[in-house]
Amino acid sequence: MNYIIFDLEWNQCPYGKDFENPKLPFEIIEIGAVKLNEKKEFIDTFHALIRPTIYRRLHFQTSKVIGLKESDLRQGRMFRDVARDFIHWCGEDYRFCTWGTLDLMELQRNLNYFRVGDLLKGPLLYEDVQKLFAITYETRKERRALNYAVEYLHLPEDGEYHLAREDAVYTARVFQTIPDDIIASNYSIDCYRNPKSKEEEIVLIYPDYEKFISREFDTKEQLLAAKDVTAVRCYVCGRDVPRQIRFFSDSSGRNHLAVGYCKEHGYIKCKLRVREAHDGKYYAIRTIKLISEEEMLDIRKKEALIRLKRQNRRRK
Ligand SMILES: [Zn+2]
Repeated sequence: MNYIIFDLEWNQCPYGKDFENPKLPFEIIEIGAVKLNEKKEFIDTFHALIRPTIYRRLHFQTSKVIGLKESDLRQGRMFRDVARDFIHWCGEDYRFCTWGTLDLMELQRNLNYFRVGDLLKGPLLYEDVQKLFAITYETRKERRALNYAVEYLHLPEDGEYHLAREDAVYTARVFQTIPDDIIASNYSIDCYRNPKSKEEEIVLIYPDYEKFISREFDTKEQLLAAKDVTAVRCYVCGRDVPRQIRFFSDSSGRNHLAVGYCKEHGYIKCKLRVREAHDGKYYAIRTIKLISEEEMLDIRKKEALIRLKRQNRRRK
């Protein structure tokens, strides 16, 4: 399997948000990519400029940051043609790698908008190199800029930043330093194309937790009433376990938390994030993780606090 490390530059409406096309707030104007083999050795590069058709003028920030001029982009090719070439260039057996989560989402949004969405089948497994950098060198939660990582690792800095080709090369160099076992056990999943039916639902098992992506529901209420989605299961032995703390939602109302207890494996945290899909329906991302008694007590405190706040608000 090859790794395709890619980076996109995009433009936005130069006249402000009020005038943007809500179906395509960001229009891709450049694709840069590096292909590595499974030993993470360099094989090939891809680069293309795209002639914008939605926002023909560059937003002042876009031109400032990426160092491209409108005259450069007029030399570019149509997005559909570039996209077809790019996916063809990726080959048969590959995994995408990007710095952060945005590029893969914008790529799919542009593919859909320009009616070549069938070039990629989702949901897509990919490597988020920004996350892998954090896990390898810092703490799991950290999210750094690409130039920070390059400087941290003393990698050669022979090009500008914020050019698709150069950023892809930099991301590839950072990726080459990540140990294989960390790559293998920390892949990400992109849900721009979320599962629609029960058959398409996804379960991913990581070393210390389980991730589940549910089918779609018409309403949030239907989703939260689906027993198989809200079940608190011990992911080690697969048993449904009694709940110690029943589902409660945080202040945003989109995240729900419960804690179960498995006699054999201990406390189990179940987190349910409700997401709105692009067709206006709802699906859930559920993570199940073993936690310590201390962590369980922390969650209990949090739940009591939220309950108290809600009661106070009602009294007012
Ligand atoms: Zn168990």
